[in-house]
Amino acid sequence: MEITYLLNSGFLVRLGRTLLVFDDFEDSVHVVDRAVEQADFDAFYIFVSHAHFDHFDTHICNYADCVTKYVFSNDVKHTRRSRIFPSEKIVYMKRYSAWQDTHVSVRSFDSTDVGTSFLVDVGGTRVFHAGDFNWWHWTGEPEKERLLARNAFQKQMKKLEGLEAEVAFFPVDGRMGDAWEMGAKEFCARTGTKALVTMHNVGFPAWTPSPGFFGEGREIPYWTPVQPGEHRILEKEGFRE
Ligand SMILES: [Zn+2]
Repeated sequence: MEITYLLNSGFLVRLGRTLLVFDDFEDSVHVVDRAVEQADFDAFYIFVSHAHFDHFDTHICNYADCVTKYVFSNDVKHTRRSRIFPSEKIVYMKRYSAWQDTHVSVRSFDSTDVGTSFLVDVGGTRVFHAGDFNWWHWTGEPEKERLLARNAFQKQMKKLEGLEAEVAFFPVDGRMGDAWEMGAKEFCARTGTKALVTMHNVGFPAWTPSPGFFGEGREIPYWTPVQPGEHRILEKEGFRE
């Protein structure tokens, strides 16, 4: 699996001859353009977890000719921006739904913000992209708000308990200060994800796990990209450049 960072929660994932793009709102170094030019793929999917500007931008409509399907969270349907996309190329997914074709099978989960998260299976390799699902713990917020955020996160975690994936993309957002890894920590502890890629951290330094982050006796490979265009190969042994 080859993973290239676009920006924020945006990634290009290559699995054999299948390309997956997630939340490409800005791709300043033209990672996706180049992949499209090279045309070295049989199937190409663009996922949008929700319609917030930092996850969804209409430039991805430029790929309409060669994309296999746009897989959009259902909230995207209610935006003006969605109208420029060819409707026959779009699959809208509500939370807790499933869709598949001959190359991929997709399940959606709920978010704690807007939209969905996605679990995408390509020939037995599973990729989880959280979208804006996270434990959004803002220190400055009143206790009541923080409790609501915690409950929403825990409610969703119950649905994700034991989920298996070769890699999970998960927010570790520097704006939350010390609480930035709370969601990712819980997610890694309660699912069987085999590798972690952190995201949604523009303008903050790279994350490093605090001691004990992965729990007693457990360590999984992680990658925390900062520069657009950075990429890694993920193998059984971990990430390599
Ligand atoms: Zn976001």
